[in-house]
Amino acid sequence: MGKRKIAVIGIGKIAQDQHLPVIAKSRDFQLAATVSTRGLAHDGLPVFKTPAELYAAMPEIELVAVCTPPGVRHAIVREALDAGKDVLMEKPPTPTISEFEDLVGHAARTGRVLFQTWHSRYNAAVERTRAILLADGVQSLRIDWRESVRKWHPGQDWVWEPGGFGVCDPGINALSIFTAILPFPVFVDKATLSFPSNRQTPVDVAISFKSVEPHAPAMSAHFNWLEESGEIWTIAITTNRGQKLTLEKGGTVLKIDGQTEIAAPSEEYEAIYERFAVLLETRQSETDGSPLRLVADAFLLGARHTTAPFDW
Ligand code: NAP
Repeated sequence: MGKRKIAVIGIGKIAQDQHLPVIAKSRDFQLAATVSTRGLAHDGLPVFKTPAELYAAMPEIELVAVCTPPGVRHAIVREALDAGKDVLMEKPPTPTISEFEDLVGHAARTGRVLFQTWHSRYNAAVERTRAILLADGVQSLRIDWRESVRKWHPGQDWVWEPGGFGVCDPGINALSIFTAILPFPVFVDKATLSFPSNRQTPVDVAISFKSVEPHAPAMSAHFNWLEESGEIWTIAITTNRGQKLTLEKGGTVLKIDGQTEIAAPSEEYEAIYERFAVLLETRQSETDGSPLRLVADAFLLGARHTTAPFDW
């Protein structure tokens, strides 16, 4: 079979950093068009201002990757499913649980494949950690996820608008690993969200989690968006056997008792597109909402603090 034709909707930072180059070298996919409100074409391919114009002009394109901010994703994905397209969605899925569940149901009703991606999960170190915790359990777990919003979201005001997630935009990546590696269900126990006085979303979030495990493992997370010394994307775990695991560099490195066990280059988006090809072949959707639910619960339960104003 030839390569599957795909269009990318929303040609912003992540589309340009990852989706377009990864599709360009994919065995399974071929970029056929872009949809861009700013009219950003790629490699001389057709570009459309709206998805509707794409669907009318190039009905042979059966797949879209939606790389817009989450706020507009529900309408765009609904429209794509109704047009008969299979859909790959960037994270975080949507700003509300209701919209996410609606998309999951609508994909099932329309018989289309919906793939909710969580890029941080696509690392060998994450899979290895999951297997260890399944065997050995969790005594304690600590997430530290700190980065510079100026570096990772330069000038993107949507991250500070209602529904823009604030520091939970990267923090949800940590929670996507957390929910993938834990062998038991987890709940938000307490949260503290700190909002810059001139912004609508938090710049710093601390969460403690609880479970129904009899030994009540201590589990917590801290997300901060003003870290200028480099990225700290670490999950430190002590297993019930007393082993110390550290997942570092966003889930690409696993150390066990200080010794590097896995240190792989990040090929998350390559793995995402390989997974999408499998889902299309088997006509299965993959839509895990658990990271979004934890973020929503932190917003529901969280105490609010006001901090210094944020300016780019
Ligand atoms: P971005 O640079 O702001 O790009 C988003 C693009 O979506 C915009 O450039 C625009 O593209 C399009 N868009 C914006 N508003 C729109 C609207 N109202 N209607 C239709 N299209 C609209 O943001 P990003 O950093 O790429 O993030 C996009 C998504 O990817 C987010 O969910 C984010 O969490 C996720 N992500 C980001 C990163 C990262 O490193 N930044 C990493 C992983 C995942 P056009 O001008 O072409 O229309």
